[in-house]
Amino acid sequence: MPKPTVAIVGRPNVGKSTIFNRIVGERISIVEDVPGVTRDRIYSSGEWLNQYFNIIDTGGIEISDAPFMTQIREQAEIAIDEADVIIFMTNGREGLTSADEEVAKILYRSKKPVVVAVNKVDNPDMRDTLYDFYALGFGEPIPISGSHGLGLGDLLDFVIENFPKDEEEDYDEDIIKFSLIGRPNVGKSSLVNALLGEERVIVSDVAGTTRDAIDTPYSYDGKDYVIIDTAGMRKKGKVYETTEKYSVLRALRAIERSDVVLVVINGEEGIIEQDKKIAGYAHEAGRAIVIVVNKWDAVEKDEKTMKEFEQKIRDHFLFLDYAPIVFLSAKTKKRVHTLIPKIEIASENHSMRVITTVLNDVIMDAVAMNPTPTDKGQRLKIYYATQVAVKPPTFVIFVNDPELLHFSYKRFLENRIRDAFGFEGTPIKLIARPRK
Ligand code: GDP
Ligand code: GDP
Repeated sequence: MPKPTVAIVGRPNVGKSTIFNRIVGERISIVEDVPGVTRDRIYSSGEWLNQYFNIIDTGGIEISDAPFMTQIREQAEIAIDEADVIIFMTNGREGLTSADEEVAKILYRSKKPVVVAVNKVDNPDMRDTLYDFYALGFGEPIPISGSHGLGLGDLLDFVIENFPKDEEEDYDEDIIKFSLIGRPNVGKSSLVNALLGEERVIVSDVAGTTRDAIDTPYSYDGKDYVIIDTAGMRKKGKVYETTEKYSVLRALRAIERSDVVLVVINGEEGIIEQDKKIAGYAHEAGRAIVIVVNKWDAVEKDEKTMKEFEQKIRDHFLFLDYAPIVFLSAKTKKRVHTLIPKIEIASENHSMRVITTVLNDVIMDAVAMNPTPTDKGQRLKIYYATQVAVKPPTFVIFVNDPELLHFSYKRFLENRIRDAFGFEGTPIKLIARPRK
């Protein structure tokens, strides 16, 4: 079951990002071992009473140079398109404004559940201000205070009660779901078309389980795949479609539902910062990754060009050292057939389980080769390692004190595990836990 999505809308300064941060909690923290990954604080995950969901702060999606009203209208549209439940946030200190009424008008057009949150109700005697907000027509407004953390429980109760109930099954376990992410114009749609054209498949747009997402079934060599929510293939013509933040948001949603993510780069242009950012998300999400260098037909090459480009990618994407790289041309279809086998390998490794005794042998050999570090007179002791999860492969090592497992030694152990088992195409996770 894909996680449901909540969006926060409302005019500027009502406290959207304050509430977003409260709901997201510490989860927002940047994963420190991903150098060069900066986060847009507009999309994250939250949890309430064991219900996990994604949350979007639409206030973070700016439509450049658009007038104020256009901005908030567009943000409301995004919420309607992307969310299962909408939190419509207002400011109890200022009361109802005409901008609130504008937002309401847009939200009326959707059938999505909307809850009005009246923020900045910092103390109970301010509750009188609530009555105005009934006029918005979305039922009982909920008073909250972002700065004091009040009322959030009531708000989140409403949110989770209104998640869609029809828990349709997602696809079969053995169907690999993959998505193509990358900047506009790198050739994602062309590549999808090249893939679909390669074998005669009936392209039917099946409404996916996440409401309006469009998934494309695809088969190759007798095996079934699903191409997830291919960017650029839907909702053409919306103003916000072309904004960078929105395209990032779309990419994140696609990553979320994928097993394997194809990070598509334009070979003609080389690597730019935004490529790194997008790839960083896929890595952080723990998805299997294949790097695709498209438009290779347009690159003037000699026998060294590919090696050089590969080195450039390795230098830029240090955190993706495990991802295979495929050079191809969606236009001429040259080497497009090499892509699916790489997706297969990445996916297989993504769900690989290793044998515990072999894992422990690998760890012990590693320790014998490179003794564990010491800190303040204490040496890290490793007792036992075990694989606790797949997608991505996740290992717990039981130690005397997790603080003693420094980044560099952790990296060393991860590399030993990789050397021993392969894991091409997938991130792996290593977690230290104290032995009780
Ligand atoms: P956004 O533009 O809607 O994302 O609003 P922000 O979250 O940036 O908040 C705008 C301002 O309102 C900031 O100065 C916050 O500190 C303040 N603020 C947020 N929540 C509350 C609240 O519950 N009570 C009060 N008094 N101020 C708040
Ligand atoms: P998207 O925005 O990432 O989906 O990119 P598109 O698939 O729409 O492609 C953007 C432009 O790049 C179009 O003009 C394509 O014809 C062109 N293009 C896509 N793939 C290739 C390729 O392999 N070689 C060349 N030379 N051009 C390509």
